[in-house]
Amino acid sequence: MQALTNRSKVVAKKEMTFIEKLYLPAIFSGMIITFKHFFRRKPTIKYPEQIRPFSGVFRGQHVLKRDEAGAERCTACGLCAVACPAEAITMTSAERKPGEEGLYREEKYAATYEINMLRCIFCGDCEDACPKEAIFLTDRKVDSLYTRKEFVYGKNILVESKENPISLVKRQTPQVKEFKHHVEFAHNQTYDKQKKVKNSSH
Ligand code: SF4
Ligand code: SF4
Repeated sequence: MQALTNRSKVVAKKEMTFIEKLYLPAIFSGMIITFKHFFRRKPTIKYPEQIRPFSGVFRGQHVLKRDEAGAERCTACGLCAVACPAEAITMTSAERKPGEEGLYREEKYAATYEINMLRCIFCGDCEDACPKEAIFLTDRKVDSLYTRKEFVYGKNILVESKENPISLVKRQTPQVKEFKHHVEFAHNQTYDKQKKVKNSSH
């Protein structure tokens, strides 16, 4: 059969020479390769004692933010769920009752909000789609867990606590904020549409 490249080599079954039969030259050249690796920089690290620095664009576990007064920002509009390519987000909405203004910023809020971390691909589309600056991906890692059920994160995990707000400084750098406004990038289109809807409603 005609070979597509000229890289193929015809292997002839020939008798081994006396030197080849000793195997010593082959063992010796193999040992040289092994010794060379002793003095090379090791690509492995001693995890968990040593932790490799994360990339500046790492996207990790989500947070549902509160506003300055401590009220939940999410208004259960569902745009994050619609934007999510992995269909990882589900929620149910409820109407805010009189006296709950300190709990929920808008008249409608997410009674339940869940993200399936096993489905999530950490693309950040939910963050880009959110018109209320409620959901953000952070620099935190998702925990290792034992059952699939545990990976469905509810509000108890996603909403930041008032006492320990989650910092977004590492991820929301000025460059990231600027990048989000570039409409020529397809994944920002949802954000841009939102902005237009918002602007036209004023
Ligand atoms: S990061 Fe992407 S995949 Fe994960 S929940 Fe958000 S939109 Fe869905
Ligand atoms: S897009 Fe924002 S406000 Fe709307 S449901 Fe998602 S997190 Fe809540």
